[in-house]
Amino acid sequence: MTGTAASHCGEMHLEMTKRRQEIEREVGRAVAKWDARWMAIAKEIGSWSKDRSRGVGCVIVGPYNELRSTGFNGFPRGVNDELKSRLERPAKYRWTEHAERNAIYNAARVGIPLEGCRMYLPWFPCMDCARAIIQSGICELICVKPDLADAHWGADFAEVPQMLHEGGVRVRWWKAHSRKE
Ligand SMILES: [Zn+2]
Repeated sequence: MTGTAASHCGEMHLEMTKRRQEIEREVGRAVAKWDARWMAIAKEIGSWSKDRSRGVGCVIVGPYNELRSTGFNGFPRGVNDELKSRLERPAKYRWTEHAERNAIYNAARVGIPLEGCRMYLPWFPCMDCARAIIQSGICELICVKPDLADAHWGADFAEVPQMLHEGGVRVRWWKAHSRKE
C-alpha cells in the first residue's frame, strides 16, 4: 500500500468513526425524547387513580413508538371502590390491581399483543407485576430505582431485578425523577 493510499484509508476510517458517533448521538437523543414523552403520559395517567396514597400510571409502547396500552392502579372494573372497609390497609392491597397488570389486562381485553414492547412506569414493579411483565412478552422496562426500605414493597423490590433479568426483561432507570436518592 502506498503512503497516499494508507493516509486515504486513515481519513476514511476517521470519517466513518465520526459518522457512527453522530448516529449514536442522534439515536440517544431520539430515545431520550420518546422516554420523556411516554413517561410524562404515564405520570398523567397515574393521576387518574382514585388510590388515596399513591397513583401509579403505566404505558406500554411498541417498537415503532406506537401506544399499545395504558393502566393505573385501582379496583377491577365495576367493583365498588367506595367502601371504606375495602379502602383501608391491608384490605386495599387485596382489592386493588396495579397499574402494570391493568395495562396488560387492558391489552388482553381487546387482543393487543405485547411481545417485544416496552413499558414505562414512574415507579417499580412488585413480584406479581414482574411475573406478568415477563409472561406478556414485554422486553424492556423504563422505571425509577426502587426504595428498598419501603415498608410494604421493599422485600419485593429486592427480588424483582433478578427475576426480570432471568426473564429477559431489560431494565433502564428513568433519571429525570424528582425522588431524592
Ligand atoms: Zn405490582
